[in-house]
Amino acid sequence: MLDELRELYQEVILDHGKNPRNLRRIEDANHSAHGHNPMCGDTLTVYLKTNGQGIIEDVSFIGKGCAISMASASMMTEILKGKTVAEAETLFEGFHHLCTEDEPDLAQAIATDEDAVDRLQVLSGVREFPVRVKCATLAWHTLDAALHEKEEVTTE
Ligand code: ZN
Repeated sequence: MLDELRELYQEVILDHGKNPRNLRRIEDANHSAHGHNPMCGDTLTVYLKTNGQGIIEDVSFIGKGCAISMASASMMTEILKGKTVAEAETLFEGFHHLCTEDEPDLAQAIATDEDAVDRLQVLSGVREFPVRVKCATLAWHTLDAALHEKEEVTTE
């Protein structure tokens, strides 16, 4: 990766890590789950409010952890607001490929929201650091657990 690009990516991660978006509880959430990454000590709770059409009206998180885990959760909440649950699952799958595979298959995620996939690329650097993959994907695993009515998820 070009140094310049790496620097830009780091800036985005640090910005979200320091000023996480949607860092709050949703009082009338209809889905929530708690996620824990014991490898790094990241913990978070994801809240979702979906409507009868399966649209995510609001999504937020509270928690603490390293800059990557907080940045990933922050970006996830920004990206998923207004999406359907099915779109959220497709983006999760794409993001997981992005974080774990050298030649990720992103066709479906791009078809869902190309701009979101572009933004998520800033976290793809974790691919080189397996421990960091868990930090980056914790929020998304927790979201998935919340949508499937699981209360607890751990990266172990
Ligand atoms: Zn972490």
